[in-house]
Amino acid sequence: MFDVIAFDADDTLWHNESIFTMTQVKFREMLSSHGPEVVDQTLSSTQIKNLRHFGYGIKGFILSMIETSIELTDGDISGSEIQQVLDFGREMLVAPIELLPHVREVVEELSQSYSLWLITKGDLIDQETKIARSGLADNFSNVEIVSNKTAGTYAKILTQHKVDPLRFMMIGNSMRSDIVPVVQIGGHAVHIPYTTTWEHEQDHPHVDSDHYSDLDHIGLLPKLIREKG
Ligand SMILES: [Mg+2]
Repeated sequence: MFDVIAFDADDTLWHNESIFTMTQVKFREMLSSHGPEVVDQTLSSTQIKNLRHFGYGIKGFILSMIETSIELTDGDISGSEIQQVLDFGREMLVAPIELLPHVREVVEELSQSYSLWLITKGDLIDQETKIARSGLADNFSNVEIVSNKTAGTYAKILTQHKVDPLRFMMIGNSMRSDIVPVVQIGGHAVHIPYTTTWEHEQDHPHVDSDHYSDLDHIGLLPKLIREKG
């Protein structure tokens, strides 16, 4: 039934959001005189405002932390504090890739029978090096690093590769990016929630549950594909 099985990368194949969460804890400590809620709210609204300028990923997050610290201190942030924020970002960029449970076995098993793709958004260099460091790259016949995941993004990729949406399955942790747009173009999507999902990604239009499946973890995916096929 499926020709192509595509995976999201961050928080679907490996831990990612946890790195952002840990950095945000350090950022809160740096600005502790302002109270954690104020820091979180200001950073969150700054990030969302900046998405269309800087896109998703660590670089945009660093710039949003700097902007938040300037705003909260009325411009009194010091050079060494800005350096601290840059160092947070550099640590994020070299954080080890920790695969989620069952990922390696499932990806290796499915690559025997299907074309596997990786479709991820974020900073180009960061995503490229993470894929290389994950040790999974050889299992994927196509890697797409995109600035955003809309129905149009998926439709364009499928057209380029002459893949019928009915024979396309996408697996991911974000309803907004991995599930809703794929269902909208007539594909099948499998939602596998991650422990924490950035609130922006949780905000999504309603989608008919007949066209997507929910799994508790990726280890259950081969069985689901056998049942559907
Ligand atoms: Mg993800």
